[in-house]
Amino acid sequence: MLYRKFPKIPNVQVSVLGLGLMRLPTKPEDSSIDYEKTKEIVSLSLEHGINYFDTAWPYHGGTSEVVFGKIVKEFGVRDKIYIADKLPIWDVDSKEKARSIFKTQLERLQTDYIDFYLLHALSKSHWEKVKKLDLLSLLDELKDAGKIRHLGFSFHDTPDVFEKIIDEYPAAEFCQVQYNYIDGDVQGATKNIEYAAERNIGTIVMEPLRGGLLATPPKGIIDIFSHAEKPRMPAEWGLRWVLENQEVVCALSGMSTAEQVIMNCAAVSNAKPNSMPLRQLKIVERAVEWFKQRIMVSCTSCRYCMPCPKNVDIPSIFSEWNRMAMTGALENGPAVSAIYNKIQKDGHGAELCVVCRKCESLCPQKIKIADKLAEAKKAFKS
Ligand code: SF4
Ligand code: SF4
Repeated sequence: MLYRKFPKIPNVQVSVLGLGLMRLPTKPEDSSIDYEKTKEIVSLSLEHGINYFDTAWPYHGGTSEVVFGKIVKEFGVRDKIYIADKLPIWDVDSKEKARSIFKTQLERLQTDYIDFYLLHALSKSHWEKVKKLDLLSLLDELKDAGKIRHLGFSFHDTPDVFEKIIDEYPAAEFCQVQYNYIDGDVQGATKNIEYAAERNIGTIVMEPLRGGLLATPPKGIIDIFSHAEKPRMPAEWGLRWVLENQEVVCALSGMSTAEQVIMNCAAVSNAKPNSMPLRQLKIVERAVEWFKQRIMVSCTSCRYCMPCPKNVDIPSIFSEWNRMAMTGALENGPAVSAIYNKIQKDGHGAELCVVCRKCESLCPQKIKIADKLAEAKKAFKS
């Protein structure tokens, strides 16, 4: 495993691959986290040198923090790893509420301190709320008390908002942005990473494989990569591209199987910055063009929008719509999808959407979910 440092935190070495704890394996009967399989994933991660583990208040309905805390205790590795956790701004209406959430997070994680604590999913409105509720003074207080080691924020908005936050939050030691070879310019991530680096703020990357899409891409992408002189697995192309950027300290992957851990750890074993030859970067550019022409909706399957009060399975519908478009199945108009038919049969179809738009304020990608569902509905022939 390779390790990198944050410019503002020179005494800490973080593995270039971190384990994101938002897509843990679940049990088919009740969708609760499968403890034994998660233990295996964490154990393999540790064995391969991963030392950065990223959880959050809402992941798996709050049980990601609980399960991970239990595993860390069982393995006795608290002082060998870095835990990242986040304050859910949308659930906070006062400084005291934020304090109470933080206390619960320590309890769930069975720890006295959190190494990397982030303001979760900052946007223009969330940042205004942080300032209005004076949450930064609370974070300073918790840091002074040794309960938080390092402060940062994760981000979902436009570059002008990113710059404003960086300028107004000098205590931030790191930031977290979505970055992958598709989203590099779409969300201004490249520009944001540069802006942060100019101020000595290192970046953690989320969604480096865009919710798994870049690890198991459609055949068109595999064909493009087959022209490279050096064969690589699709996940390796994705992770190497992200870590090619010297300002990226760590790429978080929400690995949900032991195989993914093994494959991704191998993929980053030589991921030094600025190490990909130009001809390989050109191949990635071709893959970007291919995706841009076919992706119908920029959903990463993060599930922040769920549950929908009408039981619409938003991420599964978008995922199937994208899959159909990327396989060319929609080239001649609407087409039959067995997967969508099952979603409908199980009572989760797009036709159930009543356009309440409750889900839309929760979507970090700012997708007009109801409008996109209406479009998706038309793409599937019943
Ligand atoms: S807009 Fe549609 S999909 Fe979104 S929460 Fe409302 S009913 Fe569900
Ligand atoms: S629609 Fe938005 S919030 Fe919902 S899963 Fe997709 S990206 Fe996440």
